[in-house]
Amino acid sequence: MSKHSILCGSCKSQAKCVANPGPGDKVTCSGCGREDRFDDVMKSVKDYVIHSMAQSFDRSFQRIARGSKFLKVTSKSPSHRSFRWTTSNLGI
Ligand SMILES: [Zn+2]
Repeated sequence: MSKHSILCGSCKSQAKCVANPGPGDKVTCSGCGREDRFDDVMKSVKDYVIHSMAQSFDRSFQRIARGSKFLKVTSKSPSHRSFRWTTSNLGI
């Protein structure tokens, strides 16, 4: 986890938590003081990562489809969402 910093979804400050946190440990934003349980924070970070991957996939697909006569883009891009917690390291 050391490379993956958790960021507050509201003020983008880095979150603080104990080393090797358990599901019930508190994660606290160093900027605005927002506080959640570690498992809830992880759920939000996971949603954020999945959403970001969907957006980046959608962008590359649109690029490919634009250059093709055979592909038509009918799907809408994933809409912008806000997340309680995000991360600075997506690994994508
Ligand atoms: Zn904050």
